[in-house]
Amino acid sequence: MTQIVRTIHEVRGFVSDCRRKGWKTGFVPTMGAFHAGHLSLIRQARRECDSVIVSIFVNPLQFSAGEDYDQYPRQLDRDLRMAESEKADILFCPEVAEMYPKGFDTYIDQSDGGLPSKLCGRFRPGHFRGVMTVVCKLFNMVRPDVAYFGQKDYQQYLIIRRMTIDLNLDVDVRVHPTVREEDGVAMSSRNIYLGPKQRKDAGCLHQALRRAEEMVSNGESSAARVTSEMKRVINRVKGARIDYIAVVNSETLEPLKEIKGKTLIALAVRIGKARLIDNALV
Ligand code: AMP
Repeated sequence: MTQIVRTIHEVRGFVSDCRRKGWKTGFVPTMGAFHAGHLSLIRQARRECDSVIVSIFVNPLQFSAGEDYDQYPRQLDRDLRMAESEKADILFCPEVAEMYPKGFDTYIDQSDGGLPSKLCGRFRPGHFRGVMTVVCKLFNMVRPDVAYFGQKDYQQYLIIRRMTIDLNLDVDVRVHPTVREEDGVAMSSRNIYLGPKQRKDAGCLHQALRRAEEMVSNGESSAARVTSEMKRVINRVKGARIDYIAVVNSETLEPLKEIKGKTLIALAVRIGKARLIDNALV
């Protein structure tokens, strides 16, 4: 049985019991509205750890004004059943007032030119500061041995990994491959914002990435040629607006002119009300 826990006090109690037994704790932080991507992270945690804690918290701090905080899907009953099917032990769902009580005034951030300023950071100012702050708090509450993140949000994974190293948080941060729909679209809680036509159009992100991978495996090393081909693929879809297409070093997120060594190809595209992201490591 998966147990719903609402308070920090209760989650700490559960974690203390586990520690006393010498158990390894796996943690999957999420904003809920589960899909197979979330479930694959929970399954991986179940495989590798003795106890599995999943959090659901739609974190107001990581949404800026005008973003979808209010519309973000909230479906706790369904999420509970899905967490149960993957044998999660605890579903930790704190209230906003529990996470950010009156007087809350401490934030976690990285330097101005650091990882949070790259890629999505240019379009979502303050977003990663909100993510780091909430994940740091959650890590301090749950004190996991291992935490699981999805490759779809690769920049987030890199930032959290940097944070745990810099703040000596002693959490093993692992990244897990992106889970996709049959047509290749990366699963996302935000896909529900798409109408049927837009949902079909969303395939262009994956198509652009596949095309890029194909070019690279055929020996193309010019980032400019790869991005311009990706742009062409996206622009075939009327109503797709590109935030960015980037070819960067997969550790520093610095732009590359020439594709060599570990490279991340990432993009963000707006279709209708949804802002979709995807990436590939080449
Ligand atoms: P979210 O609930 O969207 O904040 O995501 C919670 C975690 O699930 C994050 O680590 C995401 O990177 C991960 N995630 C989201 N979508 C996918 C996906 N399609 N495949 C794998 N992991 C994902």
